[in-house]
Amino acid sequence: MMNHFFVGILFVFATFSVQAFELIVEQVVDDTYAIVGHIGPRTAENQALNNTLGFVVTAEGVVLVSSGATPAGAALIEKAVASVTDQPIQHVINIGAQDHHWLGNSYFAAKGVPITALQKTVDSQKKHVEAQLSRLVAQIGEAAKTVSPIYANRVIDRDHDDFTIGGVAFTLLWPGGGHFEGDAVLWMPALKTVFTGDFVFHDRMLGIHATTPFAQWRESFVEIAKLKPTYVIPGHGYAGDFAKSTRDTGHYLAWLRRNVKEALADWRELGETIEQLSDAPQFKHLQFFDRWHKRNIHQVYMQLEAVQ
Ligand SMILES: [Zn+2]
Repeated sequence: MMNHFFVGILFVFATFSVQAFELIVEQVVDDTYAIVGHIGPRTAENQALNNTLGFVVTAEGVVLVSSGATPAGAALIEKAVASVTDQPIQHVINIGAQDHHWLGNSYFAAKGVPITALQKTVDSQKKHVEAQLSRLVAQIGEAAKTVSPIYANRVIDRDHDDFTIGGVAFTLLWPGGGHFEGDAVLWMPALKTVFTGDFVFHDRMLGIHATTPFAQWRESFVEIAKLKPTYVIPGHGYAGDFAKSTRDTGHYLAWLRRNVKEALADWRELGETIEQLSDAPQFKHLQFFDRWHKRNIHQVYMQLEAVQ
């Protein structure tokens, strides 16, 4: 059933490293592609491209969704796009506030490519940029020093905007807070395809940070479900259908909320709660379950306790 998602898979190898890092280009539907980075941590080799982005080939050139975390990463993305089309990248859309969704902007801005984002996304990027840059230096070293944060120059001061580029209709919308409070999704109604950014993680365990508005995330997921997407290009992991998004992200968010709320209602201590919820076999198929699951319980407990 999933085979049609993997019609064309190409590998674009980085040439600057002995340990070749590859970006995988997946044809999702028609002229819409996912670019899947490492399903692992940020490293110097992968230029912090441990996320998924994508692009649409239109009659007016390529629309790129997310720009990577560094200029060198952006160049790799450009190469990945060039592996399936001769069309240049003419538009960049930022849907995420996390580093690897927008810190490659400077590379495209230098070529005069317009960059579009919701005001909420830009606000969120500005709020977190300092912390993200210092973390990036720790994670990928020298390459992080080439990053200069460039924000969108086409900023939409609404939470919902419809536009058409090269005959393809897009809706850029903010469904509520998610992994970051200003994250957005890009919906293509005619193709029933959604770029969810970090609202959806496939194949790997999502991560809840102190800055993640957890209580909103599940509600936002329900809003995205109302679009009834056939194809999902997530913020991490391989493209898939919405049943996969529900399995790997939606059910997990709901499970965390239900169980941690129950623990708080029973006055259970944090340590005891983590211990009791640590075994969740229905989510063990997700990569990094061992590394992230307990941290997520911890974070959700702290956040839900604070608002009680
Ligand atoms: Zn991410």
